[in-house]
Amino acid sequence: MYFTISRSISKLNCLGQLFPPRYVSTLSPLATAFNSRPNRRLNLTLQKDVGLFGLEHLQQPEGFQAMKEDAISDTRRLVQETCDPNRDRKMVVVFDELSDSLCKVADLAEFIRLAHPKEAFSLAAEDACITINSIVEHLNTNRELYQAIRSVSESGDICSTTDVDKHVARLFLFDFEQSGIHLEEKDRQRVVRLNDDILQKGQKFMAGTALPRAVHRKLLPQNIQHLFSVSGDQVLVAGLYGDSPNCAAREWAYRVFLFPDEQQEVLLKELLSARHELAVTCGFVSYAHRAVKGSTVKNPEVVNDFLQILAEKLRPHSEKDLEVMRSMKKAEIGSSSDIFPWDTLYYTRKIKREWLQAPSSDFSPFFSLGNCMEGLNLLVNALYGIQLKTVDMMPGEAWTQDVYKLEVVHEIEGVLGHIYCDFYQRAGKPNQDCHFTIRGGKVLADGSYQNPVVVLMLNFPTPKWSSPSLLSPGMVDNLFHEMGHALHSMMARTQYQHVTGTRCPTDFAEVPSVLMEYFAADPRVLGLFARHFQTQEPMPTHMLERLCASKHLFAASEMQLQVFYSALDQMYHSENPLGSTGSTSDVIASLQEEYYNIPYIPKTAWQLRFSHLVSYGAKYYSYLVSRAIASWIWQNYFQADPLSRSRGEQYRQECLAHGGGKPPHLLVSDYLKKDVTASQLASSLLQDLDTRNNYIKDMCKNSIKCPS
Ligand SMILES: [Zn+2]
Repeated sequence: MYFTISRSISKLNCLGQLFPPRYVSTLSPLATAFNSRPNRRLNLTLQKDVGLFGLEHLQQPEGFQAMKEDAISDTRRLVQETCDPNRDRKMVVVFDELSDSLCKVADLAEFIRLAHPKEAFSLAAEDACITINSIVEHLNTNRELYQAIRSVSESGDICSTTDVDKHVARLFLFDFEQSGIHLEEKDRQRVVRLNDDILQKGQKFMAGTALPRAVHRKLLPQNIQHLFSVSGDQVLVAGLYGDSPNCAAREWAYRVFLFPDEQQEVLLKELLSARHELAVTCGFVSYAHRAVKGSTVKNPEVVNDFLQILAEKLRPHSEKDLEVMRSMKKAEIGSSSDIFPWDTLYYTRKIKREWLQAPSSDFSPFFSLGNCMEGLNLLVNALYGIQLKTVDMMPGEAWTQDVYKLEVVHEIEGVLGHIYCDFYQRAGKPNQDCHFTIRGGKVLADGSYQNPVVVLMLNFPTPKWSSPSLLSPGMVDNLFHEMGHALHSMMARTQYQHVTGTRCPTDFAEVPSVLMEYFAADPRVLGLFARHFQTQEPMPTHMLERLCASKHLFAASEMQLQVFYSALDQMYHSENPLGSTGSTSDVIASLQEEYYNIPYIPKTAWQLRFSHLVSYGAKYYSYLVSRAIASWIWQNYFQADPLSRSRGEQYRQECLAHGGGKPPHLLVSDYLKKDVTASQLASSLLQDLDTRNNYIKDMCKNSIKCPS
């Protein structure tokens, strides 16, 4: 019911000649607003709070009770309508209204549960989540409701329907069948039991992935004791130490933290086996077939082809990266040594720092939050003719202080929706960058449009008395990425909320956000807004170019690692998840050889720390496919001119406007005028890699001193 998207791991690309950046000499109202704390409007008239998100019910936590009751009575009325032979609305319209009335409460409650600092609100919200979930579970077993959507999907509706209606009806039907409603009672019961089992085992496995490991201190070599937290006889290893400059510490932490844990191994095997049984019970060959159904790539065979093509082509590129890492390591430790899995993160970060030739903190003064928001505004104005405007928050509208509210206004269509920006760190706030849909866009019964409402949650430093919030280059990427999700929500004008904006298959959902990272890595775009917060001096060209170039370094070895992880995730959810030996470590060892240039380290079990196996289950590949499509869009439509209005308009109409209302493979092939095949997707990523390498080579040629 609810939908949140976590920050992707995608890296960036940029290219092209600099043209003179346009900048304004004084700060715009938007930049000024975001360079100060949000207006804390005092309730001087002692008027009543308007309630969270302006919802009257939510002046008090008890309001969730009234919202639940409304949802229950709406549900009753709408379920009756689906079974009414004299109904005069399309079945899919009634279903969408049913889904909307439940999602409105569930999505909002899920967000408030996570974000509200007051316990009374978060508990009331949690209670609402539980109620709505149980209504949904109940509806999922309602055979009359199922038959109603099935008959429309298979034999057509009594009212005439469009392609979008038919597609959305099929999505509803598929959602229903996920709970096994179409099966014999014995199998349906098994599906319910397996789903429950998968949930429990998944949660336990996830919790185990982050547990620190305690070992006896005599196992810790003397010369690195000072780097670890030692308490009595115990050393606690809480992570991989991947960024430590001490090679021995990295290796030791890697071997200890990843030493195979028997309980995790049992949980993972049971989880994979339950998933497989679930898929087979529902008539699928494997869990991957079930998970990938309806996606952009359509089936796991395409995923595997895509990964195999990449694995083969990436090998020599990745080898070059490793060669550079070996020489860096030799220079550092004074003798030749190979590169091990515990080395890559350290040398990747090191080379990026060296390329910047300045600490990341030297870049931050050029990225005040206000300037970055103004940059986003200039970009979306150029591409789509829309403006981001700050509007005052009413008393009681936000869950905490320091939230900004943005109105997204199109030059002709008017207000498209609202984005609440909860950007600053605070105690108790989830430490994850996230986009939350609070209310999905949809056409209402009277023909008007229910505008979308979303929240962007980020973790930026709070402003100080001496300066606004200053973002690191990585935070700028995160801001652009999350804003990509928000713009998808705002600009999709879907008929149905079931497919609003980001409610599309996972392997397409990250396309708009990853594409925004390409804009954030282009000197022509950064040049629009990267200016010193005190002097408004633009960032010097050499800094701008180095910053963009640093994003392209070791791109091949990073991509190869993602390919390997994706292949592992596919294998674990295939017809034969554990190969011939039944050991999850044997699977990772053989795949590491096939997909990655650095060999597997015996007696380590990285897979038992891989929490994404639970949350993504056979969809981890989505990052790579979304990135392939985003880079394809960038290369074809925006690389030549990242501020082109006609390209922006085309992208909006052909991609963003549909949300999930058009099958994603059709959407992509219609827009890009090419079929979505494994080789097309792979070649777009490989071309992206060439572009990055050429950028680096050009910079080196232009006599800028290149480290290594
Ligand atoms: Zn994302």
